[in-house]
Amino acid sequence: MNIAFIGIGNMGGPMAINLQKAGHTVKAFDLSQAACDAVKAEGVTVAASANDAAKDAEVVVSMLPASAHVEALYLGKDGQPGLLDVLPAGALIIDSSTIAAASAQKVGAAATAKGFAFIDAPVSGGTAGAAAGTLTFMVGGDDAALERARPLLEKMGANIFHAGSVGAGQTAKICNNMLLGILMIGTSEAMALGLANGLDPKALAEIMRRSSGGNWALEKYNPVPGVMETTPASKGYAGGFGTDLMLKDLGLAQENAMHVRASTPLGAMARSLYAAHSLSGKGGLDFSSIIQMLQKA
Ligand code: NAD
Repeated sequence: MNIAFIGIGNMGGPMAINLQKAGHTVKAFDLSQAACDAVKAEGVTVAASANDAAKDAEVVVSMLPASAHVEALYLGKDGQPGLLDVLPAGALIIDSSTIAAASAQKVGAAATAKGFAFIDAPVSGGTAGAAAGTLTFMVGGDDAALERARPLLEKMGANIFHAGSVGAGQTAKICNNMLLGILMIGTSEAMALGLANGLDPKALAEIMRRSSGGNWALEKYNPVPGVMETTPASKGYAGGFGTDLMLKDLGLAQENAMHVRASTPLGAMARSLYAAHSLSGKGGLDFSSIIQMLQKA
């Protein structure tokens, strides 16, 4: 299949490479030259623009930071055409970015009005899951569009859940990430308390991982440098899932909670703590660096 892949950063890069390795012809585009160079080294063709990548694509996958990027990509901006103006008839659109459900619905409605198929398919599993092809996809859209997408999603992920109609994937994703933000702060708080008491971080991590405090952060993503070799914490909090992206997701959860009048006190606190962490200049570091707020420098 001819696939256009737009946004080949920490997540999109390895996802695009997995599609190329599966035998598809992937044309990618990213504003970052470094991101383009990284996929080019793995055999992915780099296009001169998003519209150039998409003009002969049967499928587009987008993996961009936030709602505004996704809306501009598909709908166009400042009088410039968007992908919906250049895609071949009947193309399938898979947006895997984490964005507002309302944005997914806006782009989805515009896409289907022009005869394209659209699903929102945000992911969970981190950069390690993207590289290993074991992501979890949370899909919003109709059955037919999901079944068209499924063979491609299976090359990038291990679990595919159909959450409901367009936007439902995004709603499931922000519920998950609100919980993840809360769990990362809680895990950081507990690790920092243990360290302040002189406990060995590896021993404490293992005790809690196998006890009732066990959670995904302790299993796969310990925030303390050196506890797990391959985590962002052990690489100076580089790569991974940026603090500013977590802040965006916690903000989406709060906007949604206000809309449906839900009570999310821990989600609100988590958003506020991540905002303070970002304001202290740590927005570009992996989100597990939140532990730095809770420890002596
Ligand atoms: P990233 O910042 O590493 O990558 C985003 C890429 O989009 C960047 O390379 C940037 O240059 C590019 N970009 C921005 N605007 C563009 C445009 N107009 N055209 C082309 N390229 C453009 O972010 P990421 O970590 O890969 O995250 C991407 C999305 O996936 C976000 O919505 C994030 O919330 C979500 N997500 C991330 C993780 C993770 O662990 N990193 C996990 C699940 C979901």
